[in-house]
Amino acid sequence: MAETLEGLDFESLGERLVADGVNRVHALPLFQSLHGRDGVRFPPPLARWMAGRAADERVVAEESALTESGDGWTRKFLLRLRDGAEVESVLMGYPGRFTACLSTQVGCAMGCVFCATGQMGFRRHLEAGEIVAQAHHVTRSSEQLFGERVRNLVMMGMGEPLHNFDSTVRALDILTDTRGLNIGPARVSISTVGHVPGIRRLARHPKRYTLAVSLHGASDEERSKLIPVNRRWPLAELLDAIREFAEIRRQRVLVAWTLIGGVNDDRGTAERLTALLEGLPVQVNLIPLNPTDGYAGEVSPGERVHEFQRTLQQGGLPATVRQRRGIDVDAGCGQLRARSGAQ
Ligand code: SAH
Ligand code: SF4
Repeated sequence: MAETLEGLDFESLGERLVADGVNRVHALPLFQSLHGRDGVRFPPPLARWMAGRAADERVVAEESALTESGDGWTRKFLLRLRDGAEVESVLMGYPGRFTACLSTQVGCAMGCVFCATGQMGFRRHLEAGEIVAQAHHVTRSSEQLFGERVRNLVMMGMGEPLHNFDSTVRALDILTDTRGLNIGPARVSISTVGHVPGIRRLARHPKRYTLAVSLHGASDEERSKLIPVNRRWPLAELLDAIREFAEIRRQRVLVAWTLIGGVNDDRGTAERLTALLEGLPVQVNLIPLNPTDGYAGEVSPGERVHEFQRTLQQGGLPATVRQRRGIDVDAGCGQLRARSGAQ
């Protein structure tokens, strides 16, 4: 399938116009109108060209379900794509900080045992335009519901972004283009399971996106039980890639740690994690487990979470706890879709 108009970067959009005999100068109003600028006027040749575009050149992402958290600040959207596949996007609002969480694949091939998306298996990669369209859907909703602009993106929805590197990065390059939605690159976080070749590639990408690595285990043995692809990219290689990323970018890397009761939330694990990350410019983000039907793991008690955090901090590691906002909207990865029973 040809890439949709939403999934073409500015240069490619110009080439697309030229291929149809339309002057390249019209790429600017076209790009602006595709990417969220209101009231853009189309010169007649562009208007004529646009009128002839078949629907299959545009992304169609229809909202098929919407849930709201009890506190009213989190909205989770289930979007149906052209082939009927469904993906999730989430709007997370904090006063003064609105963030869109986007999916990069339908399902995921990485098979992490605690994750609803992993339990679903892999169906397909998303096209760049489908990732862009999610951002626009969430952004428009944020403006309608709260009168607030989304200024942050996190690639933490369904799928492994670096397994779908080209489409993910092209979508982000479009979404951070100053002629369009104009999100600041540093306000974009790409969360990865630890896809080592992808991390090394991202380190060399011209735009400085923030990298977040999901660790969850402090030894290969423990990590492989939760994250099967640790066998392919073991901890030593992963830490080496993180070090390289931080050195090339002169940028701190975020480390995500999902706390699972009795599995990776004890003091000994926190001490081993501190030792493992010693000397790396990282910040640890602790995430309490969101229970899923396919995994029997337990939620850590609040006291354990804080003890884990304190142990890391005493060892000199900056550590924060992510609030479990949105748990009542099934905002854990892949859970809304899992619940809707969609295919
Ligand atoms: N594939 C990427 C990004 C999507 S998952 C990755 O794995 O990083 C985003 C984050 O949600 C990851 O840190 C993942 O480990 C975490 N996650 C997945 N399922 C979860 C669950 N049931 N409870 C808590 N965190 C979960
Ligand atoms: Fe895929 Fe991330 Fe879920 Fe693992 S946690 S299965 S990498 S989406």
